[in-house]
Amino acid sequence: MADIFVIVEHRQGEAREISFQALWKANDLSKKMNAPVTAIVMGGKEEPFVPEIASRADKVIVIENESLRNFTPDLYLGILQSLIQENRPFITLVGHTPWGMDLGPSLSVRTGYPVATDCVDVLIENDRPKVVRQVYSGKLFQKMSFKESEGYLITLRAGAFPSDRAGQYKGEVIRKDVPAGLPEVRRQFVAFEESSAGAIDITQADLLVSVGRGICEQENVALVQELADLMGGVLSCSRPVVDKNWLPKFHQVGTSGKSVKPKVYFALGISGAFQHVAGITGAGTIIAVNKDKKAPIFRVAHYGVVDDLFKVVEALKGKLKK
Ligand SMILES: Cc1cc2nc3c(=O)[nH]c(=O)nc-3n(C[C@H](O)[C@H](O)[C@H](O)COP(=O)(O)OP(=O)(O)OC[C@H]3O[C@@H](n4cnc5c(N)ncnc54)[C@H](O)[C@@H]3O)c2cc1C
Repeated sequence: MADIFVIVEHRQGEAREISFQALWKANDLSKKMNAPVTAIVMGGKEEPFVPEIASRADKVIVIENESLRNFTPDLYLGILQSLIQENRPFITLVGHTPWGMDLGPSLSVRTGYPVATDCVDVLIENDRPKVVRQVYSGKLFQKMSFKESEGYLITLRAGAFPSDRAGQYKGEVIRKDVPAGLPEVRRQFVAFEESSAGAIDITQADLLVSVGRGICEQENVALVQELADLMGGVLSCSRPVVDKNWLPKFHQVGTSGKSVKPKVYFALGISGAFQHVAGITGAGTIIAVNKDKKAPIFRVAHYGVVDDLFKVVEALKGKLKK
């Protein structure tokens, strides 16, 4: 069986979490299809994460060059096109991140392989891949098949799979030269700019008390801040709260905010859209309060209260002040 390729995403010398999630899924597919997993690393000289990747794949193809240390789509695309044309992998997985959103469709055009984007699962049925995607803001799951092809390209949603090691691998590391005749670089990496962590760093908190649009008014945010203070926790929020300027951006949890890993996560008046939930996959216990018993947040919450958040917040504050 032809390989399963995983494109390894990295930044500043570290493999990104999404790469481990893609490798986990590749390992899972590999067992079902009896197909080897080949990780592709395009990076600078001696990227320190290569041994870790090798422990999760049958083979790692490493293309090292200082011009590849940072994501340079034109070069990465040229290299991947040549590797795919040479190796003809059955499935190529990449994260649905700025890397994958750039590479997936472009590779499809260049290789003729069909692409499915932002997938939350990949299944094998009758020796062909099918993918599962969420539609209508996560309210429905859609199972999609591809037109028949020699190979398939799939971008995976961050947080859809575990990052754990899914087997004992001692992947062979194969170093290859940058192929000749790569295209001209039209988009050049300039510099990393870290977003300011702000006065607090929600990624380091053990207890997060998070507020969503259900809080209704900016003045009400203070009620939840008071609860967070009484509990010794940190205040965080969903995106609409930031969009409305009720809290600064560094409080935001989710795909366009921060991924958090508190021991306990309180979600107050948060519906549980996938962009939010993707940021709390590392949380320990999730406790949700929502007046809508069908809110998607209850699918991921360990404990749920179907009630008005204002009642619950006041009751908790009353108990804590005693
Ligand atoms: C590209 C992109 C990136 C995004 N990134 C993020 C991100 O990083 N983080 C993020 O959070 N979102 C993100 N979003 C937005 C996301 O799709 C949702 O719109 C958002 O998460 C919804 O926020 P919410 O749950 O606070 O609001 P809503 O979906 O409006 O939910 C409010 C909830 O509050 C409940 N409620 C109302 N009143 C009460 C009450 N009195 N008591 C109890 N419950 C009550 C309602 O039942 C409802 O479930 C992104 C969207 C896009 C397109």
